[in-house]
Amino acid sequence: MISRLLLACLLLSEAGFSQELTDAAAEKQQGYQPLRAALHVHSQFSDGDYGITELASFAHRDRIDVLGITDSFLTRVRYGIGPLRKLISRSRLRPGVLDQGIENYLASADEAHNQFKDVIILPGLEAAPSYYWLGTPGTDLRLYDFDHHILIFGLSDPRAIANLPVIENATWSNTNRDWTLLFGTLLTLSAGLAAAVRARRVLRVVGVLVAAAALLWTCDAWPFGSVSDPYSGKQDRRAIQHLIDYVTDHDGMAFWSYPEARYPDIKEGGATMVSRPQPEILRLTENYRGFEGIYGENVKITGPGNLWDQILVDYIHRGRKTWPSAITGIDFHSFQGKGGWHEFNRGLTLLWAKNKDVSSVLDALRQGRGYAAFHQDAEHQLDLEDFAIRSKTGVAISGETVTTDGEIAFSAHIRWRGASRPLPDAPVQIDVVRDGELLEHRDALLPADIMRAETLEKGRHYYRLRVKSGSSEILSNPVFCEVQRGS
Ligand SMILES: [Zn+2]
Repeated sequence: MISRLLLACLLLSEAGFSQELTDAAAEKQQGYQPLRAALHVHSQFSDGDYGITELASFAHRDRIDVLGITDSFLTRVRYGIGPLRKLISRSRLRPGVLDQGIENYLASADEAHNQFKDVIILPGLEAAPSYYWLGTPGTDLRLYDFDHHILIFGLSDPRAIANLPVIENATWSNTNRDWTLLFGTLLTLSAGLAAAVRARRVLRVVGVLVAAAALLWTCDAWPFGSVSDPYSGKQDRRAIQHLIDYVTDHDGMAFWSYPEARYPDIKEGGATMVSRPQPEILRLTENYRGFEGIYGENVKITGPGNLWDQILVDYIHRGRKTWPSAITGIDFHSFQGKGGWHEFNRGLTLLWAKNKDVSSVLDALRQGRGYAAFHQDAEHQLDLEDFAIRSKTGVAISGETVTTDGEIAFSAHIRWRGASRPLPDAPVQIDVVRDGELLEHRDALLPADIMRAETLEKGRHYYRLRVKSGSSEILSNPVFCEVQRGS
């Protein structure tokens, strides 16, 4: 730490800074504490093996501060035959929060926190906004997009949750009216009823039949608008964006899960569920808060200059409204192996929070204040702090922006932490990325300090960091600065 301070002093005095340096990292200086979050965890409310209280006990045991439960909201797939696509259909349903009871779900999260006060519990959701069918039943029926999921955090109003605009959950309030459908059904029903009460006997029979058919049609057509049409034959991006916007409008946050995941196709009930990676969806949708940047596969989009950087560059230079932050998604179901990871304390999202409570945790997630991490073993954890940009006017840490006249000092301190056994002595690979380009690659023994004094051009800039050692990884969220006068 001494040498780090010395370096910082030198750099900052060279750049003409007058700020006082203390021993504390920038995050701690600003009053933030590091909270270790296990995000994307399933309980018995969907297809996990344990109750929420049991999960909280594991978190307590493993010193995890935040448990982000994301049970599936509604897992129902339906194929119907026209014109009564709903009434004449076959569907498959797996348990989810909607059918197990939203109030029960929220109450269980409260109860678990009451038993394990040191564990903050976020009762979130995992949802598939839409899916679509291709092919013909009986021969080659294929289901697409059902594996493209969005994780949701921060929704607390049961009514807002109940109305989530996801396919198979079309309600009066979360759809737009299809007026031709509404009036079509009403007109047919009235014509049938009018004939049934007035006309001659033959017509009366016809009237009753028409009215009965119209009634069936009305039931099938309710709520006269759909969240998404699964028979359109193509991806419904409007439905995806609609879900993200709905979540954001209700003070929640949406994260893309598994953007590059490639699973084998699954054959079930006479249809094939097709899985395809879809990283481009990160560019094609807006307003979501982030994505799983670490989830146990070889993720390419987070490499220097790849898709994540392209989106961040769009944000700083080309007017994109929001930037995606990275989290680690563990997709935990069981310790026995049931998809996802089978450990609790290796895939972690580090959040810098003011206090250890729900609102501070949500604030850290909302700001992207922290980093995604994976640890090869729980004993040797990579740790990043003092990841900051300092200017003459202030300091910014991950997710934040500081203004500057052009002169900045960038810093990062990386070390092994919590090790009770001998520390790994192999060098780690450190990539420093600035504005989408690899600025510096270093193979360094830890602890390592990165210090750079730079003069930046007018406009917005960002720095981010990727650290790798075997399968251990840290993926920092960017820290931004804005040069207000050209230098
Ligand atoms: Zn999941």
